[in-house]
Amino acid sequence: MPETKRIIQVAVPRPLHSVYDYHLEQEAPTPAVGARLRVPFGRSEVIGICVSTAVQTPHANTKAVLEVLDDDAAIAEELLDLAQWMSGYYHYPLGEVLATVLPSAARKGSVFEIKPEPPPDVWHLINAEGISPRAKTQKAVVEHLQHTGQPQSGEALASAGFNRPMLRKLEDLGVVERKALETDATLAEPLPPTEEQRQAIDQVTDSKRFEVFLLEGVTGSGKTEVYLQSMAPVLAAGKQVLVLVPEIALTPQTLARFENRFGGTGMIHSALTDQQRLQTWLKCRAGDIRILIGTRSAVFTPFKELGLIIVDEEHDSSYKQQEGLRYSARDLTVKRAQNLNVPLLLGSATPSLESFYNVQRGRYRHLTLSERAGGAVMPTYHTVDLRGQSLRGGFSDTLIRVIRAHLAKEGQVLVYLNRRGFAPTLLCKSCGWQSVCPDCDAKLTLHRQPEQLICHHCNLRFALPDVCENCGEGDLLPLGIGTQRAEEALAELFPGVTLYRIDRDTTRTNRQLNEQLERIQQGKPCIMVGTQMLAKGHHFPAVTLVAVVNADAGFLSPDFRAPERTAQLIVQVAGRAGRAQRPGEVWIQSYQPQNPLLQRLIDQGYTGFAHAELTSRIDAGLPPAQPMAMLRAEAFEPVMARDFLQQCKAHLDHASQEISTQEASVELLGPIPAPMARLAKRARFQLIIMATTRPLLHRVLAKLGQPKTHANLRWSIDVDPYDAM
Ligand code: ADP
Ligand code: ZN
Ligand code: ZN
Repeated sequence: MPETKRIIQVAVPRPLHSVYDYHLEQEAPTPAVGARLRVPFGRSEVIGICVSTAVQTPHANTKAVLEVLDDDAAIAEELLDLAQWMSGYYHYPLGEVLATVLPSAARKGSVFEIKPEPPPDVWHLINAEGISPRAKTQKAVVEHLQHTGQPQSGEALASAGFNRPMLRKLEDLGVVERKALETDATLAEPLPPTEEQRQAIDQVTDSKRFEVFLLEGVTGSGKTEVYLQSMAPVLAAGKQVLVLVPEIALTPQTLARFENRFGGTGMIHSALTDQQRLQTWLKCRAGDIRILIGTRSAVFTPFKELGLIIVDEEHDSSYKQQEGLRYSARDLTVKRAQNLNVPLLLGSATPSLESFYNVQRGRYRHLTLSERAGGAVMPTYHTVDLRGQSLRGGFSDTLIRVIRAHLAKEGQVLVYLNRRGFAPTLLCKSCGWQSVCPDCDAKLTLHRQPEQLICHHCNLRFALPDVCENCGEGDLLPLGIGTQRAEEALAELFPGVTLYRIDRDTTRTNRQLNEQLERIQQGKPCIMVGTQMLAKGHHFPAVTLVAVVNADAGFLSPDFRAPERTAQLIVQVAGRAGRAQRPGEVWIQSYQPQNPLLQRLIDQGYTGFAHAELTSRIDAGLPPAQPMAMLRAEAFEPVMARDFLQQCKAHLDHASQEISTQEASVELLGPIPAPMARLAKRARFQLIIMATTRPLLHRVLAKLGQPKTHANLRWSIDVDPYDAM
């Protein structure tokens, strides 16, 4: 009797349409919208989300829901709305969007149950009289605790010979008690804010509804203090705060400042297990966690009552997911803050041009911290012309002299390089052959210890050839400078000086990185050489010199975002210099010191640079002035990828002619080979889609529908691509 069936709509985590009709068995209760359901799909079973219970048009042969997993919504209406919006905006199937939004344990059907915290393992003596009179060991524990005069951890007591079963016995007798140390007394006091900090804090705290603030604060200006003091009244009102950071592991000090000010925080990062992540998610939902600090995916956390969202280093590329559902967590915070009607604070020393554009258009309010806090001054910039100079391990005589001078004055030196390994390539002196990856359009990087050639793109590794593979003669020359080579050169140039190399090869784990950072923070003179890991957010009070070994590559790249990215990187790494009492210097080596982009950055600072760059983007009709999307395709057969995009183009071209008007038009560029035209044996092509308005872009993309594809072809839509080339 199909007419009596109750039909509901279920989003399943599968590509293609992803929303399907199912019916409920007679006796089954109607699930809540947002509840998880087990449903048959194809030959298997999947867990989907009920997205609608008001479906009127029964299919003749719907399948039955097998099980309803939640009494209430697993995903709150607000997040379901966000997912629906994302599905439209990123042109991605709703079921798969939901699979990204939910923590994976929830997706796999875990029961939603907050596990009680284990009691803290700190033992307090509360009633020495409570022991059994003849129990010698009990007496010994009490005497020990009386003797130490303060609560002891279970670890410390165990090493004193008192094991936990013994302690638990005393707990039952009411002699000792397990509880956390009283931390409130030790919470850090807020710093008296500077005038600029005061103004920024006031504006954010006065705003009780949706509003976006862009806090542009030079490096070391005390943005974190603005975050902390903007949060305080929100927390005092019993509301929660979400703080997004680019990478948890890279900024232990910043995290410690949140903990020290407010006590506990919840954290979401990649090192959590699925169950830990689910617990944090549930506690935020229940309101048990007041401050959540997390990376990109934390933007999808449900909250009981969110009062403020903060995005630190809002320009950072790690907020953009580069595979699957290619969302921007920064952009999604805007949507979420709007849906929840709460203020959003975006902070950076080097804001994205997107955010500047929004300030220009009156959408965001601009807050500035133009000076460093605590009396520190901004570093001065100097360039070294590399033309005609003989270099030692990449270092000019001038730079060597400057480094020596800073070390002599007990300063720390930070040397920045954008390449790990020993040398970016190996060159044959006789015929000019270079070591290239057989599977990628990329050179192989020479590494030492152990000596090998590595492709940084597909990770293939090769033994070093004895002779040139092309001409069979000897004399292979390592060309260019990587961090290993710089480290080697610095060790020779500055014998006896402590050297730290910080890149992905030396610091594989967070612990290794933290150990190195802690040693550096002790402030003894040293040289640290590293990649952009060194540029991010660290507070190195003793660094007086930052040296950029070569600034040229970034400004020469054809990607229209390259100047913005390069300027951000230089300013961020330069911002590690002179953050305390002693002023800092930044020295930049370049073969084109007169490059107008570099000159503008030095003369006008990041703000001037960014505004000029924004003007030229607007003039050229590029993002953020005009929206962009990119279709990417890759296949072992180049023609397959290219033909696919060609077909998409024809289709989109046709669609856009129908919906374009005189004022609003669409432009299709490509297909062209991607900048890295081959990666891991696959040929890669791209098609750029530009439109004069965002609604038009979305209407055109929607016309793409489900293009015919092939099992060996991978393709994706990227709305607001970050790597536009
Ligand atoms: P940013 O995040 O803007 O780079 P930080 O928040 O790390 O800057 O602050 C840089 C330094 O200035 C820190 O050591 C911080 O404790 C200090 N600082 C911040 N605000 C103040 C203030 N109002 N008074 C004194 N010192 C401050
Ligand atoms: Zn050769
Ligand atoms: Zn490769």
